[in-house]
Amino acid sequence: MTRSLYDLDARQLELLVAEAGEPPYRARQLAHWLDRRRQPDLRAMTNLPRSLRARLSERFAGAGLTLDRHQAGDDGWTHKFLFRLPGGDAVESVLLCYPPAGFSRDDDWEGGPRGRATVCISSQAGCAMGCTFCATGQFGFTRHLSVGEIVEQVARVSTMLPELRPGPGAPDHLTNVVFMGMGEPLANQEATWGAAYRLHQGFGLSARAITISTVGLVPRIRRAAAEPLPVNLAVSIHAATDELRDRLVPVNRTWPIAVLLAAVEEYVAATRRRVSFEYALMAGVNDDLEQARGLGRLLAPLRVPGSGGHAAHVNLIPYNPTPGTGFAPPSKGAVRRFRDAVAAAGVPVSVRANRGVGIDAACGQLRTAAGRPGRKVPEGSGRRGPGNPEGVPRLVGELSQGDAPVDRVAAS
Ligand code: SAH
Ligand code: SF4
Repeated sequence: MTRSLYDLDARQLELLVAEAGEPPYRARQLAHWLDRRRQPDLRAMTNLPRSLRARLSERFAGAGLTLDRHQAGDDGWTHKFLFRLPGGDAVESVLLCYPPAGFSRDDDWEGGPRGRATVCISSQAGCAMGCTFCATGQFGFTRHLSVGEIVEQVARVSTMLPELRPGPGAPDHLTNVVFMGMGEPLANQEATWGAAYRLHQGFGLSARAITISTVGLVPRIRRAAAEPLPVNLAVSIHAATDELRDRLVPVNRTWPIAVLLAAVEEYVAATRRRVSFEYALMAGVNDDLEQARGLGRLLAPLRVPGSGGHAAHVNLIPYNPTPGTGFAPPSKGAVRRFRDAVAAAGVPVSVRANRGVGIDAACGQLRTAAGRPGRKVPEGSGRRGPGNPEGVPRLVGELSQGDAPVDRVAAS
């Protein structure tokens, strides 16, 4: 079953058009709509014959994403979408608009990105990694998204952007895409890379405008180092000691910090690109100065070979409260102290403004609010075996249809 028109490549579009008895240039028009115009809706493709559009609509009835919910926050600078996938599951995408330089909106946003419209997209329905603080992790894993389902999120948000712009100061087109929505992109690496290439080659986004965030799947970071497309890599670290990271990010038990950082070092050596480290700050959990100094000690030695410049940049994200997890963001003072301690250790660091708090804009929160939990992750699902030589938790196919829901990978 084709899940999205964006799952079809140029050759498949040509075949479709030929089957409909239309000349080949119609396939190029269709591709132009889908990619350059980022328009997933056949009804809007008005230079295609009505009969061709009707035929394609019928053929792909049930494919594509449907907007289920939309919430605006931060005075219209943040928008959160819940998209229904074919088959009924739902994923979230978030649009984050940043005012241009010189346009002061809020002190909290000072020093952050400028003049951008970033869309944060999901790569899986749910997530198998079970991070204890994450709403998606609490939900468990349902399924991987296809290339088309990932790309279509960008197209749908892109077509809505002109009418959602909060004001004349806001960008009128998408500038950046981050794989920081629901799911672990590198657990669904074929579709993630397929989508990244389509966004670059089809949508015309520069590779540096695309960021893939990973919880730290070491073998997949090695594979990322070998990809010719120079996208940005972000690694979610969240703790400076294995004792703490084991509790927050269960996958740390498979690839502890030293192993993760060795892979990042290899990545930097191979690509000569900087890596950002995401650190969600949670009050009384990972916001003490010992963790900050430890983080500094771990990351300060990471250098770009040749230039000798810093290879690590830390992004601190004050925790976006998620009901039921028991975690809370630290005070502004605690965030500043943590930031200053990381900086004092010689590591570039910035605080990411907490966006969309009022609209459940953290990863997985809107879907939690909308109900429909996914299946939980079975214990031991990340065991290495013939079908899973890398020991990556819950790749597709590990759960059969009859599997009963079981508890998420234990946090401690
Ligand atoms: N699975 C990938 C990408 C999706 S999550 C990863 O973990 O990197 C994107 C980022 O949001 C991660 O750094 C994640 O740890 C963080 N995150 C999840 N829930 C959060 C919350 N409630 N508040 C702040 N950051 C959160
Ligand atoms: Fe999955 Fe990322 Fe959430 Fe962890 S933080 S459960 S890897 S989406």
